[in-house]
Amino acid sequence: MTHPDILIVGAGVAGLSLATALGREGFCVTVIDGAKRPPPPPADRAIADWDLRVSALTPASIDFLERLGAWSAIPGDRTGCYTRMKVWDGHGSGRIGFDASEVKAPYLGYIVENRLTLQALLQCAETCPGVEVLWDCAMEDMAPTDSGWEINCEDGSTFCAPLTVGADGARSRVRDWAAMPTRDWSYEQSAIVGTVTLACHHQHACWQAFLDTGPLALLPLADADKVAIVWSLDELQHEPIASLPDEAFVSALNRALGDDGPRAEAVGPRASFPLRQSHAVDYIDEGLVLVADAAHSLHPLAGQGINLGLSDVRVLAEELTAGKAKGLAIDSPVALKRYQRQRKTENLAMMVAMEGFKRGFGSRNPLTVIARNIGLGLVDQQAWLKRWFMGQALS
Ligand SMILES: Cc1cc2nc3c(=O)[nH]c(=O)nc-3n(C[C@H](O)[C@H](O)[C@H](O)COP(=O)(O)OP(=O)(O)OC[C@H]3O[C@@H](n4cnc5c(N)ncnc54)[C@H](O)[C@@H]3O)c2cc1C
Repeated sequence: MTHPDILIVGAGVAGLSLATALGREGFCVTVIDGAKRPPPPPADRAIADWDLRVSALTPASIDFLERLGAWSAIPGDRTGCYTRMKVWDGHGSGRIGFDASEVKAPYLGYIVENRLTLQALLQCAETCPGVEVLWDCAMEDMAPTDSGWEINCEDGSTFCAPLTVGADGARSRVRDWAAMPTRDWSYEQSAIVGTVTLACHHQHACWQAFLDTGPLALLPLADADKVAIVWSLDELQHEPIASLPDEAFVSALNRALGDDGPRAEAVGPRASFPLRQSHAVDYIDEGLVLVADAAHSLHPLAGQGINLGLSDVRVLAEELTAGKAKGLAIDSPVALKRYQRQRKTENLAMMVAMEGFKRGFGSRNPLTVIARNIGLGLVDQQAWLKRWFMGQALS
């Protein structure tokens, strides 16, 4: 049996960033993941060579990745900076535009392929003293003991640490084994993701259309004519569109983008995933803590999933480090409660806002349509209100 200070289940962006942050503070950390070690991502730039899972990283997330040494390990020619956002209501005339120059910021964020962020964090974790990352090591079950949770893996290995972290994503088995309840909403929508070549330069803009079938987002990649799409569709519309051959899919996409969006020319391989919002009632239990998607997964319409996850990681690492400096035990409820208090409030506020957005823009009630179109127009004309919205997006 292996006995680290902290065992992290899941070597995704959350698990690896937490391991690096804690390893640097002198904790002895083991990370286990059921997947195989991810190979180095391809450097080719054909439409099929881009990761289907991308993240819109905010300046605050980039700053945290920089401090871990991961941001500079991501190839700069593969990150897409965005300085503008264009949002419109496909059911009316409402539109709003945000520009980084309005808040005197150099940019609003970067679109980065998930596998590149992961690879950079893996380099940091593997070279960090005190951190061990084990692949092909899936947790099978776990049970409480007097000295922490005992974690048994499919390959027969066993771990026991005073503190176990569930960073094992939205379908967290750690959360399930510890019987930590969640509040769940199904949107009865699925999202199609893929890479699209445009007929024009993407102008470093994120486009978001609120259509009556669900939101459609275009996120600018490092190549000036390529964007990642996240097209959320009600279940009834999803299958017929997802199964279209490439050419017909591009035509459907252009119809959905209408006159407000850019024109698509080609699409690469696509994937779909069901949209659910889920929030753990508690993030902590005795000797156990949940972070990122294991604690909360939300609608991709605001592109905030990984940003909230990285904030969880930053706060948990800070609280555990502060606890250590005060001589508290690693699993001290004092530090864990402080983490939960700070993160639950912010995550819940974002989830409630997403729910409101989704409901407001999902409504076909004519009065709601008029109200939201007037609302978008009003915000667009109020410089101070736009600055406030952008301040929220940058943090
Ligand atoms: C298509 C798509 C688009 C997205 N777009 C955005 C966006 O624009 N902006 C944004 O901020 N977020 C976005 N997100 C969300 C973002 O990707 C997630 O919030 C983020 O990746 C969650 O990271 P994580 O480390 O918590 O979980 P994950 O990335 O899910 O990692 C969990 C890890 O745990 C491992 N694991 C699971 N079970 C076990 C087990 N039993 N034993 C051992 N290991 C296990 C898995 O192999 C995996 O490596 C998007 C998500 C998707 C799917």
